Amino acid sequence: MKKNIILMGPPGAGKGTLAKQLKEALNLVHISTGDMFREAIKAQTELGVLAASYINKGDLVPDDVTIGLVKERLSQKDCEAGFLLDGFPRTLAQAEALDEIAKSISRPIEAVINLDCDNEELVRRISGRRVCKDCGAPYHVVTMKPKVEGVCDLCGGPLFQRKDDNEEALKVRLEHYVSETKPLLDFYKKLGLLESFNSLVGKEELFDEVSSYLKK
Ligand code: ADP
Ligand code: ZN
Repeated sequence: MKKNIILMGPPGAGKGTLAKQLKEALNLVHISTGDMFREAIKAQTELGVLAASYINKGDLVPDDVTIGLVKERLSQKDCEAGFLLDGFPRTLAQAEALDEIAKSISRPIEAVINLDCDNEELVRRISGRRVCKDCGAPYHVVTMKPKVEGVCDLCGGPLFQRKDDNEEALKVRLEHYVSETKPLLDFYKKLGLLESFNSLVGKEELFDEVSSYLKK
């Protein structure tokens, strides 16, 4: 089985949803830089205040901050069982740093899963997205409704709309994706690690396809 995995794809492609399914099924540690930043924002730490000033506009948090955060997390013992990076790396500098970190802790990346999705669908998904304030579980007002409106099925927490899930910030996020993150697909393709999946098939089918690929 492949462990030490990177999930890539534009905002709204379904990385977070897939990560949560894979984490349960394959017993991997889920490392979402977006979730880590949102937790810091909620706790009003120094990191949180800094991160919010970038995130709310749709901009990327500076590389040194993000790399430091991931380095610390990946060095923890629980990651020995295998990890799932969601939302990192997003820039070439991050990809290069990750390569170094992975080598230094002897946990090399074994697969890069790329989720393809068209722009129209990304906008639809992001504009209807709701997230649990307590556990981060993702929902959609039309296609992934909770059993009780506004309440998380998993933990009972309140659902909210992310500050960066608006048209203006999404436009900026998509621009960053195209100019800074998408070129990383080539980087991983050259390393022979890249496998792409169409995320339009729906979350159950996508999960089946990706998990059987990872189990090979
Ligand atoms: P999405 O994939 O929907 O854009 P994430 O939760 O992964 O959402 O990220 C939300 C925001 O957090 C990003 O728009 C960015 O501002 C910040 N962020 C997350 N990961 C990184 C990263 N690796 N480098 C820089 N900024 C990041
Ligand atoms: Zn919840």
